[in-house]
Amino acid sequence: MTVEFPTRKGTLIAVDDVSFDLQPGEILGVVGESGAGKSMTGYAIIGLLDRPGRIAGGRIELDGERIDNLPPEKMRRFRGRRIGAIFQDPLTSLNPLLRISDQIIETIRTHMDMDERQARARTLELLNEVGIPAAAERMDEYPHQFSGGMRQRIVIALALAANPQLIIADEPTTALDVSIQAQIIRLLKRLCKDHDTAIMLITHDMGVIAEAADRVAVMYAGRIVELGPVRDVIKDAKHPYTKGLMDSIPAIGQDVRVLAQIKGAMPRLNAIPPGCSFNPRCPQAMDRCRVERPELITQGASAVACWLFAEEEAGVGVA
Ligand code: SF4
Repeated sequence: MTVEFPTRKGTLIAVDDVSFDLQPGEILGVVGESGAGKSMTGYAIIGLLDRPGRIAGGRIELDGERIDNLPPEKMRRFRGRRIGAIFQDPLTSLNPLLRISDQIIETIRTHMDMDERQARARTLELLNEVGIPAAAERMDEYPHQFSGGMRQRIVIALALAANPQLIIADEPTTALDVSIQAQIIRLLKRLCKDHDTAIMLITHDMGVIAEAADRVAVMYAGRIVELGPVRDVIKDAKHPYTKGLMDSIPAIGQDVRVLAQIKGAMPRLNAIPPGCSFNPRCPQAMDRCRVERPELITQGASAVACWLFAEEEAGVGVA
């Protein structure tokens, strides 16, 4: 899939030929710094790209059905029923003026054939499932009466309301305290397995990926640069950018002020360098990297877009 933004000065490519799949009950982590195109990928899947952004190539399929060309009204129904969303700020998804029970009941009744009483019973079930204490007593309260962590649990209940096949979770724990983050990650993992729901977990935090995801796609400047099972990528990150992200996970007890960071910044969309877009920041860049762009090459269960590995595969071997 490719997402582009036409501007007066030309067309900017925000997501460049990105391709992946998700299986039921699987968490795919999509990681990268801000501006990598990871949220844009999620918004494109869910049909919420800000104009004038548009999907310029490729296709998005859910269960064999193409969904990137649905008319807006059909996509609106599709969203919620078959794809749920969780955003960084729970208040984006919750209406402050409505009781949480009414919001969840409305979502259930929009997408499922249930009367008010059945929908209310399902709402209570969902709130219990996501760990809202005393849910029966609290379900008629308003969003501001809950803490940030509890509000995010309510949003998760809302995302699950119609039993979707896919949930797009965009930085769902970023706004929360560290101890609450871990609880929300555990909750997402459990719900994903219990409901057989696929989750695309978008985050800038490799630590969250290590905790939660089954597979990871590392994005840089609109492209996937490494894709593979989390365990393999953590044990043996191949792409120099992935290694940089791995180095930015604090070890237990490590002083977080002395983290190894990747020098430099993600390029702007209108200034993506030729060759490998990571080359100005890459400690291993070679001449070739500045002129030729490496494609994603599959190696076993993983794939990597880096000339170091393309040459290895060709038998040239680079130390
Ligand atoms: Fe670094 Fe070159 Fe690999 Fe890009 S292709 S990550 S610049 S070694």
